[in-house]
Amino acid sequence: MVRALSERAASALTRLDALYPDIEALYLDLHEHPELSLQEEQTAAKVAARLEALGYEVATGIGGTGVVGLLRNGSGPTVMLRADMDALPLEEKTGLPYASKVTAKDRNGALVPVMHACGHDVHTACLVGVADLLAGARASWQGTLMLVFQPAEEVANGAAAMVKDGLFTRFPKPDYALGQHTTPHPTGMLTFCPGYAASSCDNVTIRLFGQGGHGSMPQVTIDPVVMAASLVMRLQTIVSREVTPQEVAVVTVGSIKSGTKHNIIPDEAVLELTVRTYKEEVRALVLAAIERMAKAEALASNAPKEPEIALVDATPSLYNDPDLTERMTRALRAYFGAEQVIQVPPMTPSEDFPYFTQEGVPSFFYDFGVINAEQFKAANGQVPANHSPYFAPDREPSLKMGMEAFTVSALELLQAS
Ligand code: ZN
Ligand code: ZN
Repeated sequence: MVRALSERAASALTRLDALYPDIEALYLDLHEHPELSLQEEQTAAKVAARLEALGYEVATGIGGTGVVGLLRNGSGPTVMLRADMDALPLEEKTGLPYASKVTAKDRNGALVPVMHACGHDVHTACLVGVADLLAGARASWQGTLMLVFQPAEEVANGAAAMVKDGLFTRFPKPDYALGQHTTPHPTGMLTFCPGYAASSCDNVTIRLFGQGGHGSMPQVTIDPVVMAASLVMRLQTIVSREVTPQEVAVVTVGSIKSGTKHNIIPDEAVLELTVRTYKEEVRALVLAAIERMAKAEALASNAPKEPEIALVDATPSLYNDPDLTERMTRALRAYFGAEQVIQVPPMTPSEDFPYFTQEGVPSFFYDFGVINAEQFKAANGQVPANHSPYFAPDREPSLKMGMEAFTVSALELLQAS
């Protein structure tokens, strides 16, 4: 007999209030002890210990500090739920009794303050809570639950590192992947965007080589400043002349550095660009055009060597499978109420979650509000957002909503076909 989702969700979530104090304690602990990207060792150890105690098959050290928890519960689909674990190099200014006072050494060896200012502590605590709820409600679902706690989301390489380390070969490749993120919306509000939900982000550094000399004798130099200026203008034609008008692309030169003084022609110029697109083919076209133009400008200027072009950060766009989005939002609306589950336009910040889904796994990623609803209203929505030193989730409604949304979503998919 097939039981209705509402009934299965209600039975899995009967323990929510009883479980809450334990998950809140975990959240406070994570919040007080944040760890920088690629250093999430204590966080990963806490997660792994809890998953083991709940009876999950646990693997650690995946793609750095990543943790995978598997719970096999009969035939049915494999559903992956993801949380990210890393914090930011930021000094917390919330004044909360559990505010972070942690400092740590960053990648360059500099001592920096550390704060969970993006809500990854909420994500992690919620997913541990969901692990508990679903382990305790095995009669309500069928299939394999795959919980993924990833490192290094803030530097956009933790998800890719886990995939590279065999996430989908050493463990079952999921039939569906779900992710969730905190937003500076009032608690109780869940937002989503079908199709392309966030743009890709590619940061490109171009080093152009010239031949320096005296500013009064340009004829014996190859001027990289002129080369750079010409390239900056030429790059503007990618979006205006090469990309189909129906598609979205942005090419911005955010930094241009060259030279030291009025009368010295320098040896080189360095440009730093950011590129945003949605479709993979548009992204490839834009990146190829940048490379072609940089090389062509160098050639046109008679540069002594080809420019160095480096892709320093690359995050694919976030794509919500339209059919899956339809199915999930129907389930979420039935549980939370239609007015709480709101469709929004694509958002601008990038996410590294798409690395998990690039290999053909249908996915759905949504956001949920974590700001105290009255505070949000009083401030007319002008509240500290993610990455602010004042970012302060209203913990009980936030943690409960994160657990409920993931539980309902997973249960919708975890049924025998
Ligand atoms: Zn962030
Ligand atoms: Zn984040």
